[in-house]
Amino acid sequence: PILTPTEPSTAISKTPILESASPSLLHRSLFEQPQTVSSASGSYLTLHDGRQILDGCGGAAVACIGHGNEEVMAATMAQMRKVSYVHTLSYTVDAAEELAHLLLHNPSSTNAHDFEKVYFVSSGSEANDAAMKLSRQFFFEQGQSQRKYFVARRQAYHGNTIGAMSVSSFVARKIPYEDMLLPYVSFVSPAYAYQYAQASESEAQYCARLIAELEAEFLRLGPENVISFIAEPVVGATSGCVASPRGYFPAVRKLCDKYGILLHLDEIMCGMGRTGTYFAFEQEEVVPDVVVVGKGLGGGYAPIAAVVISRKIVDGLRSGSSVFNHGHTYQAHPVACATALAVQRIVSRERLVQRCAKMGQLLERLLRETFGESKYVGDIRGRGLFWALEFVKDKATKSPLPKAIGFGLGVQQAAFDLGVALYPGGGTVDGVNGDHVLIAPPYIVSEADLT
Ligand code: PLP
Repeated sequence: PILTPTEPSTAISKTPILESASPSLLHRSLFEQPQTVSSASGSYLTLHDGRQILDGCGGAAVACIGHGNEEVMAATMAQMRKVSYVHTLSYTVDAAEELAHLLLHNPSSTNAHDFEKVYFVSSGSEANDAAMKLSRQFFFEQGQSQRKYFVARRQAYHGNTIGAMSVSSFVARKIPYEDMLLPYVSFVSPAYAYQYAQASESEAQYCARLIAELEAEFLRLGPENVISFIAEPVVGATSGCVASPRGYFPAVRKLCDKYGILLHLDEIMCGMGRTGTYFAFEQEEVVPDVVVVGKGLGGGYAPIAAVVISRKIVDGLRSGSSVFNHGHTYQAHPVACATALAVQRIVSRERLVQRCAKMGQLLERLLRETFGESKYVGDIRGRGLFWALEFVKDKATKSPLPKAIGFGLGVQQAAFDLGVALYPGGGTVDGVNGDHVLIAPPYIVSEADLT
């Protein structure tokens, strides 16, 4: 396959880079310079030329409490004054311990779960890698080293490191590295009713078909060889806010339990309140064995993500070596943890998860009123403040628009010209993923801004 410079999700209104003035920073593209943002406050970005842009996507669903929060800045500075850095091999700090405790015992979380430990890293990709290694070690310690397979879906983005990319299906990003990826990964169909449920099928029948396929795949691999099934409760970047059909995750949980396979949920994008509940899986009536959260955890104020680990996995380690031999220099970084703790305290105190659910209802209504009849808007879907418009050439056949790079990019540009930042996706990916634009404003977004 030929790699063309067409991957979407690059910056908007790019300026061509002249050879003579080439920046030192390696951007996504060598020949285009992204917009420079000179300041940001609340739900708005201010560009270098003074233009104000409503941050309608929070980067990619990152900015949950908005930009420029003084309380967070004060907490960051206070932690820097106390301890800016120590290595987790020998030390810990209160902020990291408190943040872990808050994740396990969050007042906004409605689900009864059995999580026991939290592991902090600096990105979603690292979190997925750590969760995959931890899951493998869980079985290894119990003498089940034959369990090597991860099963994921052909509509998934779990990150860019070799491990996380191996279980992702963002085909354009994988092409140059195909022969470097993990060998024991298998993919099943996405749970993506808009494109893949048959017209004659009920939701329950579609769900049953997907579950039968998953079980057949487990059996083909030998279920005793499978470590985990990895999925996003609401799929973000690849197809745009795609929730699975009702009953899907409970049935997946049942299958995993039947064969002793771990359920690994990726809530890097959809977690931390974004869908209107603290964890997105709370709306699915399941509890995973391991869940990863990221973007909304630090709200963009710090690069931080977390692996939230069930008692079952921790007990597995406890009865074995009791050591998770993984680690990064900046894991549980004191300043990142203190910053995220301040963000999460604001989210709790201001009841922003509940606000996100409420404002989400308004956003849904506005999107349906505004785009429901649009010629090229095939689907409007989402939860909380996590919404997408999927673009199609023909609403009846749902056939994609012909542009290789995706209509979403054009919509992103048009919205930007009107002063709103959106996040495009899909398009090129692999024919499984919808051509869409993502709308994910901060939880503090005002009614006036949405309108
Ligand atoms: N998982 C999901 C669902 C994501 O959306 C992303 C990033 O967009 C990642 C993992 C990777 O996170 P990061 O970019 O922080 O490595």
